[in-house]
Amino acid sequence: MAEVILRDLVKTYPGGKNRATDEVSLDVGDGEFMVLLGPSGCGKTTLLRMIAGLELPDAGQVVIGGRDVTYAEPRRRNLSMVFQSYAVFPNKKVRDNIAFGLRMRGVAADEVRRKVDWAADLLQLTPYLDRYPAKLSGGQRQRVAVARAIVMDADVLLMDEPLSNLDALLRLSFRAELKKLVGELGTTTIYVTHDQVEALSLGDRVAVMRDGRIVQCDGPTAVYDEPASEFVGGFLGSPPMNFLTGTVEASDGGPKLDLGGQSLSVPAALSSYAGKTLKLGIRPEAIEVAGGDGALSGELQVLEPLGSSALLTTEVCGQTVKVSAPSTFRADPGGRLSLRLPTDACRWYDPETSLLLE
Ligand code: ATP
Repeated sequence: MAEVILRDLVKTYPGGKNRATDEVSLDVGDGEFMVLLGPSGCGKTTLLRMIAGLELPDAGQVVIGGRDVTYAEPRRRNLSMVFQSYAVFPNKKVRDNIAFGLRMRGVAADEVRRKVDWAADLLQLTPYLDRYPAKLSGGQRQRVAVARAIVMDADVLLMDEPLSNLDALLRLSFRAELKKLVGELGTTTIYVTHDQVEALSLGDRVAVMRDGRIVQCDGPTAVYDEPASEFVGGFLGSPPMNFLTGTVEASDGGPKLDLGGQSLSVPAALSSYAGKTLKLGIRPEAIEVAGGDGALSGELQVLEPLGSSALLTTEVCGQTVKVSAPSTFRADPGGRLSLRLPTDACRWYDPETSLLLE
């Protein structure tokens, strides 16, 4: 096991216009499960490949277990990697696939057998050990790839979208299995995904990336509840966080946010922003909705029953507000709804920088 420290990693590909990673620094604790999350092209895979030694940085440092491995060969880093494609040998039985790395390392046959049996048991592959990959499902093949990685007793496990080729149902069950497995192994793990649900479900911490930089790194609850920027609030959550633009006005009863015809009371601490424009961020499930006019009145435009909840698209002063309501909620499009935005669920953003106010 080992701590992974990244310092100011810069990488530009030949012919690339922008930096694929732009001075990225990150500390991953011993035994921690760190998820790198972000949209396509934000630099997640490049970062992972620099940790693995498959790509060399232009500048910066990679330290694993206290050792500077920035320019060390991949095999000198004692890490295992699982890729998106099920990288298994089609002409080898499951048993030999799992054993491959151990045999390459010259591990004694008894020890190889013991380890293969252990990994097969953990990943429920024991009945398939003598089959060829062609006779396995996608999920089973990916389990073989994971088994092959974990038998190596690596200090660090790197995974690049390992679930993305699986169908939705399999992905869900394998996600939970993977979480349990990595929890039991206690290996430092760095996991790349663009799937926010996967990131929140698996990560001890989630590093959200954008344009080659880490824009927030925090526990899953914190990145979801306290997004550091509009980008993070918009990237996490389905539907994403709502953002309402308004002007802060001082009044005798405390400051208010004028949304352009309707206003709502805001915390006294925002008095200092009187006369300024702010953005209010709130999650769709945090809004309390009822029929009829309320303090804040919205027009219902669309009601989508989603089974466990109903998604409402409403309009408040020309701004769209998505509300996640109980599945039993009924109202007709075109009608007025009362929306309550609990103060403790509201976050405040500077419209110029898009950053959370301190
Ligand atoms: P995805 O989820 O689509 O794989 P990502 O977040 O992993 O995206 P990277 O693959 O690291 O992002 O790519 C970061 C940037 O570097 C992108 O602009 C990409 O086009 C560019 N890039 C990646 N690999 C290469 C390469 N081999 N040569 C040139 N440019 C590359």
